[in-house]
Amino acid sequence: MEAKEVIELSEKYLIPTYKRFPVVLRKGRGVRVWDINGKEYIDCLAGIAVNVLGHCPRKVVLEVQKQVQRLIHVSNLYYTEPQVKLAKILIENSFADRVFFCNSGTEANEGALKLSRIYMKNKFGEQRHEFIAAENSFHGRSFGSLSVTGQEKYHHGFEPLLPGVKFVPFNDVEAIEKAITDKTCAVILEPIQAEGGVNIPDKNYLKEVREICDKYKILLILDEVQTGIGRTGKLFAYEHFGIEPDIMTLAKGLGGGLPIGAILTKEEIAQAFAPKTHASTFGGNPVACAAAVATLETILEDGYLLDYCQRISKYFMKKLNGLKEKYPEIIKEIRGIGLLIGIELTDSGVPIVEKCLEKGLLIGLAGDGSVIRFTPPLIIEKDDVDEAVSIFDKALKEAIK
Ligand SMILES: *Cc1c(COP(=O)(O)O)cnc(C)c1O
Repeated sequence: MEAKEVIELSEKYLIPTYKRFPVVLRKGRGVRVWDINGKEYIDCLAGIAVNVLGHCPRKVVLEVQKQVQRLIHVSNLYYTEPQVKLAKILIENSFADRVFFCNSGTEANEGALKLSRIYMKNKFGEQRHEFIAAENSFHGRSFGSLSVTGQEKYHHGFEPLLPGVKFVPFNDVEAIEKAITDKTCAVILEPIQAEGGVNIPDKNYLKEVREICDKYKILLILDEVQTGIGRTGKLFAYEHFGIEPDIMTLAKGLGGGLPIGAILTKEEIAQAFAPKTHASTFGGNPVACAAAVATLETILEDGYLLDYCQRISKYFMKKLNGLKEKYPEIIKEIRGIGLLIGIELTDSGVPIVEKCLEKGLLIGLAGDGSVIRFTPPLIIEKDDVDEAVSIFDKALKEAIK
């Protein structure tokens, strides 16, 4: 098919939830993707923080090929090897004792909300239904996960949502304490708000939230759907803050590009999800699990990639800070941790993203659209960073004119 035909048919047949860029992508290797006309791009969006090892990473491709030939799907009424291998790696490398597999971040959060409710009901013998969430958070699009998403633009037209959700400013511990009642079930937070604008909390924020949750005996759910799987230079972002959540959700980077999500938790809480309380037909699918095992094994080998992510992050941030000095009238602030980097502009970032696309660089937007988001694969090399920053520089220069 020609690009024009793909675009026309997509616009004709797909439900129009996405406003897409007029580019048809066909192939990817490492940090590069190519469109249907052969034009090359550096991918600093990486499927929105999904392709942590870049496109078509060798080990993931090989393991998926093997698994696809062996067994594609069976019911969770039976055991499979890839699923338990993945569970073991996740448990051995996290705070958690047990894991439930699903297929996306939304589903993981939906399940985490359900798990916390049933656990609290069992524990206290009465329903504690309230959740405390942060303004500008993003947790997903299903009714539960949307209800704890602190951005009105996503709620619009879908009300009524779950009752009993209280939103507090992110990075404000006192606000959480004030929002707690005898009906509070859990606090749900992203350790770093990604979609909401790459908002990094103060060093002690999560520690103090943890203390408050312990004091009032409520659960702390950390949504690491975007920050997990090495994105911040640690396997999980909570490791930066010296705390452990009660429940953690994962998705995006977990499958190295294949769809998979997970809920991780401690033994006592896990027991609340007894047989028949929660389920997923595709959750823990053997192919997705084989991809996730290959992804995690690659990341964890000698801890090399996590250290590398922190080093290349410093280099990236230094170069971007150079641009901030060069364009103080456009760049307000640069914030980042690992390879989750946000560049707050004084105006909408849309024209910059479009200019970068024309010049062969894929980047994203966050927050109210004035924050440019770089979430490249963790394997991005110095030369790629130089090239990406140089394209970004040119786009900024043109924006000034
Ligand atoms: C992307 C994202 C989600 C939603 O994940 P899906 O896989 O799109 O359902 C939830 N929480 C956070 C923090 C995310 O970044």
